[in-house]
Amino acid sequence: MTEINKVEISPNGPILSRLAQGYWRLAEWNMTAQERLTFMKQHLELGVNCVDHADIYGNYQCEKLFGEALKLDASLRDKMKIVTKCGIHLQSNPSHPPKINHYDSRAEHIIDSVNNSLSRLQTESIDLLLLHRPDFLMDADEVAGAFETLCASGKVKHFGVSNFTPSQFLLLQSRLDTPLATNQVEINPLRFNAIEDGTLDLMQQLGIRPLAWSCLAGGEIFTSQTEQAVRLRRTLNELAIELERPMEQIIYAFVHSLPSRPISIVGTGKIERVKSAIEALSLTLNQEQWYRIWVANKGHGVP
Ligand code: NAP
Repeated sequence: MTEINKVEISPNGPILSRLAQGYWRLAEWNMTAQERLTFMKQHLELGVNCVDHADIYGNYQCEKLFGEALKLDASLRDKMKIVTKCGIHLQSNPSHPPKINHYDSRAEHIIDSVNNSLSRLQTESIDLLLLHRPDFLMDADEVAGAFETLCASGKVKHFGVSNFTPSQFLLLQSRLDTPLATNQVEINPLRFNAIEDGTLDLMQQLGIRPLAWSCLAGGEIFTSQTEQAVRLRRTLNELAIELERPMEQIIYAFVHSLPSRPISIVGTGKIERVKSAIEALSLTLNQEQWYRIWVANKGHGVP
């Protein structure tokens, strides 16, 4: 089994395993609390210590399902790093449902969200809190104040963002005394936004590893019948045969080969597939192999 080491996600940031487990789909896995606990323990045995949550996952149910399992063996808490997110207000919010889904990065909402997440996760602190989506009404000074309050109370150790553009990232950073630890963004062979819009350039410049979500495009990369997806699968399959690795490992290697050195978040509920993602850490693509995937995404050669 490939050794999975721990890395500092950013200068003075939290130390995380090079792969994280995402819990967005936890409510769909229909696991008992004991099965969830076993799944969590298996990750720790494999060296995957980072878990990715958001307050809204599973309509506010996933953190709760995770916390229930964690309570069965509280000694696991100190062995893991918990990432969670806030800043989206869904109509499914059980305590105060809004009329429409919207973003909210007011200090009051951030602090309330964290308190609710702590109680659902049955823990005293969050290792890394992310603002889930850029809020067009975000007042960076107000967010900075909320972060300071949460840090001073010991409820949150590190802060970061998700789905932020470089300018949104730099705006918020300009009001903070401590560096943002990461930007969690979508990276996969179907969607190149973060690769092309300067997001990953900024991460490389600042020495920050992005957290990569939906590296397999949520499974769509294996099933979509669009011309682009079919073309990509053909290339990925050729590389899989040449490199004697399963197709998903080629995809993870495509993400890991990026110079901003992303940490990928796996979304599967199957431990065998987590093991395959770990094996992918020993694979890097050379320039030509990486660009074969680029060409398959675009449907034409480099200019
Ligand atoms: P993903 O790895 O792209 O997709 C996982 C899905 O693909 C699962 O339904 C899985 O099914 C399926 N799948 C099919 N073949 C697979 C294979 N060979 N290996 C692994 N999975 C395969 O990840 P994701 O769930 O979309 O996202 C991962 C995590 O990123 C989430 O849990 C969440 O923590 C985070 N996320 C963040 C944001 C954000 O805005 N910040 C957005 C989306 C996600 P099985 O379970 O049956 O294996």
